[in-house]
Amino acid sequence: MKLFNFHTHNKSEEYGIINISPGEYLIEGKIYSCGLHPWDIDNDYQEKIEKTEQLAGKNKIVAIGEAGFDSKSPADFNLQKDIFRKHVGISEKYNKALIIHCVKYYNELIALKKEIKPAGAWVIHGFRGKIQIASELLKHGFYFSVSESLLIDRNKAEQFFNLIPADKIFFETDDSDYMIENIYNFASVQYKISLEELVLQINRNLESIGIWVG
Ligand SMILES: [Zn+2]
Repeated sequence: MKLFNFHTHNKSEEYGIINISPGEYLIEGKIYSCGLHPWDIDNDYQEKIEKTEQLAGKNKIVAIGEAGFDSKSPADFNLQKDIFRKHVGISEKYNKALIIHCVKYYNELIALKKEIKPAGAWVIHGFRGKIQIASELLKHGFYFSVSESLLIDRNKAEQFFNLIPADKIFFETDDSDYMIENIYNFASVQYKISLEELVLQINRNLESIGIWVG
C-alpha cells in the first residue's frame, strides 16, 4: 500500500510532494511544492519569488511553499509577512494549496487568514505546537501535516488526534529519515480506522485541496 508523503525534502520520493527552492530542477513523474522558506530569505528574495511564480503554473507544482514565519529567519517579521503575502497571492492566482512553515507567530498567521480570506487551502506542516493552538488553527479552517516528530510527546499526540478530524490531516517526513509508516500507523489507531481506510481518507483530503495523485 502506498502512503502519501505530504512534505519531504527527499528528492527521490516516489509518492509525495517534494519541496524545492525556486530554481531547482523538476524531474518527470514527480510532484513538487515550491517557495521561499523563511530561513532562506536573502537579498535575492524578489528574484526567488518571481521564479516561484514562473513555476507555479506547471502541473508538476501542486502546492506553493513552504512559506511562512520563523523567529530564526534572517528577515524581520515585516519582511517575512510581505514575502508570505506574495506566496498567498501566487497560491490564490494558480489555485494551488499553500504549505506553511510556522514557528511562533501563530496569532499573526491566523490574523492574516481572517484578513485575506483565501479560497485555497492553507496547510500547516510539521505542526508540534500546543493543543490550544491546534484548536485555534482548526477553528480557522487550517489543515495539518504532521510527522513522526509529533510522537515524541505521546500524550500530546493522542490529544492532537482526538482534536483534529481525519479530514483535516496529512502525513509527512519533512527533512528527517523517518519511515512514513510510523505516523500513519499511530494515526490509524487513534482514529480507530484501518490503514486502508486512512489511505482512502488522505486521498479524499488531497482532492479536497486540489491535488489528484491517482
Ligand atoms: Zn520542510
